[in-house]
Amino acid sequence: MLVLRGSRILVPKSLKENVLKLAHEGHPGIVVMKRNLWTKLWWPGIDREAEKFCRSCNSCQLVSSPEKSEPMKSTDIPSSPWEHISADLMCLPTGDNLFVVVDYYSRYFEVDVMRSTTTDRIVRSLRKMVLTHGLPVSRTTDNGPQFRSSDFKDYLESEVIMHRKTTPLWPQANGEVERQNRTLLKRMRIAFAEKRNSISDTSVEEDVEITDRDGQNKGKGKLYADARRQAKESDIGIGDKVLVKQDKQDKLTPNFYDEPYKVIEKSGNAITVTDGRNAKYKRTITHVKQYNDADGKNKDCTSEIPEDCVPPQSDDTNLEDSNDTPVPSTSRPKREARLPARFKDSVMSD
Ligand SMILES: [Zn+2]
Repeated sequence: MLVLRGSRILVPKSLKENVLKLAHEGHPGIVVMKRNLWTKLWWPGIDREAEKFCRSCNSCQLVSSPEKSEPMKSTDIPSSPWEHISADLMCLPTGDNLFVVVDYYSRYFEVDVMRSTTTDRIVRSLRKMVLTHGLPVSRTTDNGPQFRSSDFKDYLESEVIMHRKTTPLWPQANGEVERQNRTLLKRMRIAFAEKRNSISDTSVEEDVEITDRDGQNKGKGKLYADARRQAKESDIGIGDKVLVKQDKQDKLTPNFYDEPYKVIEKSGNAITVTDGRNAKYKRTITHVKQYNDADGKNKDCTSEIPEDCVPPQSDDTNLEDSNDTPVPSTSRPKREARLPARFKDSVMSD
């Protein structure tokens, strides 16, 4: 038995799953998928179920784009020099290493050139700087092996220095020293081009804008950066499943590893995920994507498009139209009118 609603076939419950599978063949986006369904088929809640099916398709999720960045959280401006400092190591093609330490307040920086970059060597260099400038309250570093070692931790603890670490693959978070490194690199390139051995007398204009120390400018910078990155508060929470971005091997590499991970920690843009066994990874929010299970877990299907209770009366032409006006009889398949036997002698007229 075929039941029609308008010009669309009412799909029985038992066939819905198969129909959705067919409509998603070739992995179309939600708009195309709904259009395919809308032309011929209908059941109550067809829109919502199509959206859910599309959103929870495993393959489509693997190639979708990562989460948007969270709104920027700017560091507070320190109240005095050498209160908060930032450190980073920069390798040179010559085999030397630059240990750069920048003061957040004044943008003053110290550079130590070193051959070996053991924790011991770094701590010695820091000690020397601390003797000159005093003890900082906190320091920010990236996750270089020297900064993760227990010796380094011991040293900081012995001096009561707070250690803030940035997320791997997200050097922007250690912004101050990364910017300083660019300035230094520029100076060194010029020195190299001019075949000099020292950068001390390079007369490059200082790139560092001390003016943005001003809180107001920082606020403006935040608004601009947030707008540029289309930042939004992410609704990923602890316990959620996420996909983790993978490096591109070639143009066909999917954006994400195919196994979903579970979020076990979240602080601003930084989240920690686990594979459920032993491995834990720290990633930034822009390197993950919320994963939707086919059974609708993780994110409840909240449809932005109102539920399609009334099917559009004319197919193809106007998909948004869902008013209930009666259709001209021509567009509907006409049922054959058979006359009951007792009327066989009567004359019927329209
Ligand atoms: Zn798909």
